[in-house]
Amino acid sequence: MSMQISTTRSERPADDARLADILANPGFGTYFTDHMLTVEWTPDAGWHAARIEPYGPLSLDPATAVLHYGQETFEGMKAYRHPDGSVWSFRPEENAARAIRSSQRLALPELPVDDFVQAVDALVEVDQRWVPTNDEAGEKSLYLRPFMFASEAFLGVRPSQHVTFMVIASPAGSYFKGGIKPVSLWLSETWTRAGRGGMGAAKTGGNYASSLLPQHEAIAQGCDQVVFLDAEESTYVEELGGMNLYFVFKDGRIVTPALGTILEGITRASIIELAGKLGHQVEERRVGIDEWRDGVASGDIVEIFACGTAAVVTPVGELKWDGGSTPAPASTELTFKIRQALVDVQFGRAEDTFGWMHRI
Ligand code: PMP
Repeated sequence: MSMQISTTRSERPADDARLADILANPGFGTYFTDHMLTVEWTPDAGWHAARIEPYGPLSLDPATAVLHYGQETFEGMKAYRHPDGSVWSFRPEENAARAIRSSQRLALPELPVDDFVQAVDALVEVDQRWVPTNDEAGEKSLYLRPFMFASEAFLGVRPSQHVTFMVIASPAGSYFKGGIKPVSLWLSETWTRAGRGGMGAAKTGGNYASSLLPQHEAIAQGCDQVVFLDAEESTYVEELGGMNLYFVFKDGRIVTPALGTILEGITRASIIELAGKLGHQVEERRVGIDEWRDGVASGDIVEIFACGTAAVVTPVGELKWDGGSTPAPASTELTFKIRQALVDVQFGRAEDTFGWMHRI
């Protein structure tokens, strides 16, 4: 059964000249499309009042629960315009399924996969002129941000009895302007991201709030991103603030940190399938920080890359920590091969043999 979604069109959509200006140089997360989608939930009525309205500020009671206890989840995905003008998203059911797992952890109601995908599609359809076109090598897209939050005005600490789901959209430029550069990483030995039984696998604001200070320290150390270790032993590599990690060994093995306390990246999962097709078996297991340092030093690890919706796949360069550093691994060959294969499918430049793309 599909949701009934009402639509009230904006009376003042961006004019063509302003839109062209924005899409020429969208940056990230700065400009928003003409509309937004909202669905409400209460225990009695379930999901209801689905609507698309002109984009604009919300009016919230100061006691709204999310502002106090952070009961919220979000997703990040993209819509891509293919060379024939059609618009597609990448594995949206996976984002919907992850949103459900996040909801379970945050004691929020579950939005069914079909409703999630329908909601995202409906907003992209109304705002489709905001999906950028690309020249041959361009990687502009429309970033989609579904999110759900505790919207009941109540200060008691218990699951909210009123929940709001929304989708907003923001055009995104090529992540790397002027060529892909390896990311340099700062190993945080002070802060961790997630402990056993915590919220590490959920996409919820608190995980990102807690990453801001370590990320700030990484920048202060002249690095691009922070690497988190496990909270119990400070021994095992987990992930970056917003990307998963992959290690490529000399003998062709590929290893990625096992699930549990990390975010279950959809790019990460896709690379497991893609690498298989390229003849590489991916091992999901714990990776010690010493294995990283020693492996790069001995030449056993030949490539390391990070992956996520924003940057797709990006080579990892130097790793720094308090008192030392390990240089960039020797190669980026497989990294770029995997990157190209993914981008080609997403932007409709290669056949989608996996059935990953969803036409909007
Ligand atoms: N880890 C974290 C902490 C993230 O925020 C993200 C981005 N969603 C990822 C990994 C990569 O996930 P995905 O491939 O689904 O974008």
